Amino acid sequence: MYHPPTAQQDRNNPLGLPIYECWFCPTNWIGFSGLLFHLEEGRCVKQDRIRTLAFESPEYGFYGNRLTDQNPFFCFQCRAQFPQVSYLYHHAEHSPSCSYLLNPSECLGALRDFYVEYYECPGSDYIHF
Ligand SMILES: [Zn+2]
Ligand SMILES: [Zn+2]
Repeated sequence: MYHPPTAQQDRNNPLGLPIYECWFCPTNWIGFSGLLFHLEEGRCVKQDRIRTLAFESPEYGFYGNRLTDQNPFFCFQCRAQFPQVSYLYHHAEHSPSCSYLLNPSECLGALRDFYVEYYECPGSDYIHF
């Protein structure tokens, strides 16, 4: 049983994960999983967009099952299953044997770059208040 991330804003960052600032609001998050978890809440981007975007990356076969599955995402290394992309990143960030997937040449590194490039041109996903 996988427990979802609960401490995204824990200021002591024992793993030394990179800090990400939300692209749409002035908040900082520990690890890419923290930022994704924030974005998945649907306040800064359209609800569900983070999940559907993951399947638009050419790499999706390395971490995605099917969008309609209860657990659309899996860890390429250990095959653990996840309902949200943020859980998958949280798993990789906290699992020494799976964290290599976050490297730029690996699938989760590629997906991270995909999100970054996508949201550099926010387009219609940006919610105006
Ligand atoms: Zn935000
Ligand atoms: Zn794993």
